[in-house]
Amino acid sequence: MLRSATLAVLALSTSALSTSALSQTVPPAATQAAPAPATGQTTQEGTQQAPATPTPPPLNPAELNAKRTAPLLADQAAMKAHVLFLASDAMKGREAGSPEFDIAAQYVAAQFYAAGLKPGGDNGGYLQRVPLTTYRAAEKGTASWTPRRGTVQPLVFGEDIVTSAVPDRAETNVTAPVVFVGYGIDAPSLGQADYKGVDVRGKIVAVLPGSPARLGGEERAFFGSAGTKAALAAAHGAVGLIQIDMPRASGRRRPFAMLARGFDAPRMTWAGPEGRGSTPTPTTPVLGTLSQSGTAKLFGAAWARVMKASEATTPRYKPIAAAGTLTIASKTSFAPAASSNVIGIIPGSDPALKDQVVVLSAHLDHIGVSPERPGAQPGADRINNGALDNAIGIASLIEEAKRFTGDIAKGSTAPRRTIMFLAVTGEEKGLVGSDYFANHSTVPLANIVADVNLDMPILLYPFEDMIVYGAERSTLGPIVRKAVNSVNVDLSPDPMPEEAIFVRSDHFRFVQKGVPSVFLWPGQKGPGKAAVADFMGNRYHRPGDDLAQPILWDQGVRFVGVNYAIAREIADGDQRPVWNKGDYFGTLYKGPMAK
Ligand SMILES: [Zn+2]
Repeated sequence: MLRSATLAVLALSTSALSTSALSQTVPPAATQAAPAPATGQTTQEGTQQAPATPTPPPLNPAELNAKRTAPLLADQAAMKAHVLFLASDAMKGREAGSPEFDIAAQYVAAQFYAAGLKPGGDNGGYLQRVPLTTYRAAEKGTASWTPRRGTVQPLVFGEDIVTSAVPDRAETNVTAPVVFVGYGIDAPSLGQADYKGVDVRGKIVAVLPGSPARLGGEERAFFGSAGTKAALAAAHGAVGLIQIDMPRASGRRRPFAMLARGFDAPRMTWAGPEGRGSTPTPTTPVLGTLSQSGTAKLFGAAWARVMKASEATTPRYKPIAAAGTLTIASKTSFAPAASSNVIGIIPGSDPALKDQVVVLSAHLDHIGVSPERPGAQPGADRINNGALDNAIGIASLIEEAKRFTGDIAKGSTAPRRTIMFLAVTGEEKGLVGSDYFANHSTVPLANIVADVNLDMPILLYPFEDMIVYGAERSTLGPIVRKAVNSVNVDLSPDPMPEEAIFVRSDHFRFVQKGVPSVFLWPGQKGPGKAAVADFMGNRYHRPGDDLAQPILWDQGVRFVGVNYAIAREIADGDQRPVWNKGDYFGTLYKGPMAK
């Protein structure tokens, strides 16, 4: 599962808004790429998560082994076995681009083979190669402001501005007028039209971070990301985007000084043919972040009025053209890497429907090994095993595949539509492997009728209900409800809308291609609420997400059962899923829509 602070700066590529190849642009405030500076991570977690409660003393080796090797029923043991392997220390956190991730991918390919899946990757194998690049700022960039009347003023790096690495350019040189466009959101149907009445062609747009609270959970998170803003700026003909640091805007953002210290933190995306990173907005790079002092140099007295306006409960901003031109020059360096998605197929049985493909996805990668932290105990565990995030999702995917092929072997009919089991890389880097797949799909994209995504089911309590993100957006909702009810579980509404989970995992890359998608979690009724809060606050994206946790494997088997019922229902339905009439994302990405 992607960190929410990453989401705030992630480029959620937007095919409806940009015609170019899609992936991610990561502006400077991004902190997800490993190895991120330890201080940045600490501060970020400190501001966004509950304070850590004291952890119980670690188990000794004999206690750990007793936990690992305790006998279980066969179906539970089968599921646990995948997690024992994938979340072992030997996998070193399965970071995309690492040799250990490649071993994990071979493991999944072997399991797909054993399950009887047909290969769905490159050249008749299970693997789809995903070329990656790690990119970073090669040096501190330079910037200056030339007022219409007056002399050139340098903008001081770290005081006025922090320039960004640009994923697809070794050198960036932009000189252009600057227009402030508020949040930089163009969504008239949601009542936010920041570009109305302003011509930004050939100009740099300067935007505030985030988005207005009234937009609501998922749309708010989507429009708050710098990637969406860059795509909108590109659609309006801007030649660059610069972010404005607003210290009061959100407790989650890194302070400007920390942004400056981490200016050359590496980030990862998939690579184009020339080895540079892909970006959905090649014409409109994210150039950097202006501090309040830097912004005031550009906009003069007008900026004080904007800051005054920002104090309102629901601030409204008017576009402001700065009187002069901004020049920014920066260099980006690249280091190639490679990884793989793993793909297995069950061919459909209905001649009329077998070309249609239902994708079941889960990410195989995790965040690797944390850097050593100053003051940490010598020998402290730094391996992020990712047992729940997302070894257990992959284990569910494999066991679900075995349930399908096992049932077929016992004489039941194969599903009417084709089912694709997709284990992706680079989710933690910004949904990179799923974005690569969505742009290099191994079956025609138009044939993909749905994605059901498994990411980080927190199987630490007997779940009494389920949450299906995206259920209210498409006809997958009723299908999912029927399947869930068939195994005596109820659907509950999203208990944490402010987390915007719907835009934080791999299914969103399918949404961006118009494909109705859902993402399932065990619900939070009864013991769920406390267990989820404890996990998110204390072990999420930390070394403690390992096999010492009290994972309930019987709940894992139940979870597989629900997912199986859902996949079967979608694969066998008479109608392919469509978006509900007028759904925001369905409309934006031109997906099939209910009449
Ligand atoms: Zn994660």
